[in-house]
Amino acid sequence: MKSSPALPLMADRTAARRDLGLTDESDGGWWKLPGGSLPAFWLRRLHQLGAHSGWVVPFHRKALRQPVGGCRLVLVRVDDYPRWDRPLGEFLEFDRLLARYGVPYALGVTPFLGIEPRKGRLDAAEIDTLHRLTERGVTLAQHGFTHRPHRWGRRHTVELPAYSSGELADWIGRADTFYGQSHLPPPAIMIPPFDGITPESLQAISDRYLIVTGGPASLSTLGPVAPGVRLNRSVYLPSYYPHMYATDMYGRLGKRLWTQATGAVIVFTLHWAWEVRDGYHRLESLLAALAGLVVPWDQALRRFAPARGDA
Ligand SMILES: [Zn+2]
Repeated sequence: MKSSPALPLMADRTAARRDLGLTDESDGGWWKLPGGSLPAFWLRRLHQLGAHSGWVVPFHRKALRQPVGGCRLVLVRVDDYPRWDRPLGEFLEFDRLLARYGVPYALGVTPFLGIEPRKGRLDAAEIDTLHRLTERGVTLAQHGFTHRPHRWGRRHTVELPAYSSGELADWIGRADTFYGQSHLPPPAIMIPPFDGITPESLQAISDRYLIVTGGPASLSTLGPVAPGVRLNRSVYLPSYYPHMYATDMYGRLGKRLWTQATGAVIVFTLHWAWEVRDGYHRLESLLAALAGLVVPWDQALRRFAPARGDA
């Protein structure tokens, strides 16, 4: 059997000194969330209950709580392009709203969607839309390859960890060929579908994607890793509970969602299909508050690229 890469060994302490201002060398668990020794289920509940009771739970141990140079990056990630059960026109309506508030974002693209009723490679209209979005400054991210659900353990659904490292390399090759043939920039960001990523699958994609995202579910599949920690060659930027359910949580926590959050990078996640169902009510108030605050992902890519040699 293949041995599993140990998560603490994947965490890059040298990068944390540079990227996150880590100075406390005595804390061996610096890369872990506070409460990181709790079972993942309880850590998820802690984040959820904290947010619902008005407490912004810190995501970093003391040594990593200050943003480097006081400059915090606030980013927005949008999942599910295309969505299997919603037409392109609805996505365009959502996108117009983000454009109106001047909120830049990374769009999670699934090039070979494998979910009925919308199965198959992106079509001409969808590719054409991506051209217009990139011209306007939207960053393309990779949201898995097919988004098809695979079971992981008893409670979780994943895509990427269902593949061997050889299969992942094949999928990456196919996706990059697709972007090349479509004259689109190949994404430097991987948004694992269902936030399902394991140490093994992260190791297998780490040379290709500078940034890998996660969420509450990856506390179980990957481990209790603090946002901004570099694992192998990828910077891990999860959206834990309050930032994953951003539009709902803004109603409860308001601006504390970003003023009291710890760490140098905050990633708000939006699922456009959820917002369509809600009639954009909660989304509009969040966008109005975030206008002028959110930076393009290019800034995050530039901040993290030079040390990796990708600049
Ligand atoms: Zn998705």
